[in-house]
Amino acid sequence: MTITPPRLKPVRTETDILPAWRGTPVAELLALHNLGTGARKYAHPQILIATCPEQQTALRIPAGFAISLHTAAANLKRDPFKVSWAIGIGRVSAIAIVGHTDCGLVGLRNQREAFVEQLVGAAGWERPAAEQHFDHWSDLFAIDDPAGFAVAEAARLRIRYPKIPVAALLYDTADGMLLQIEA
Ligand SMILES: [Zn+2]
Repeated sequence: MTITPPRLKPVRTETDILPAWRGTPVAELLALHNLGTGARKYAHPQILIATCPEQQTALRIPAGFAISLHTAAANLKRDPFKVSWAIGIGRVSAIAIVGHTDCGLVGLRNQREAFVEQLVGAAGWERPAAEQHFDHWSDLFAIDDPAGFAVAEAARLRIRYPKIPVAALLYDTADGMLLQIEA
């Protein structure tokens, strides 16, 4: 079995937006951020956007458009209630999982010693507690590839919320643009 790597589709004009997203808040997110389309007034948030906390540059979106969650590699596995809350109470009708290039969660497992040393030296933890903490959480958050992870996370959420469109996107830190990820 061969695994096809995810394909990245840029959005430079409206016509680049994949048919699956047209007419959904995902298309509006791509148009607002990549194409600089004008904002409108929102009666309630349209979309839940998950981004990695390392991604320091804010997306170009107007107030009231989105509910934003910042979680390592845009992984929502530890936030099931926040996602359901965004739909049930926030009334969002779409989800965007936004990975980013150069994500530090790639290769996390190789950073165990640095992580432990820092928690011991800078935060005052005992070494065994720091090691156990890393071993407990790192498997959940370590990823191999930001785009591949975003695709998998979007697929997981689509099964959980079958009527909600869930897009996997990649923020390119080189040019600050969002790319669509096709599995
Ligand atoms: Zn990251």
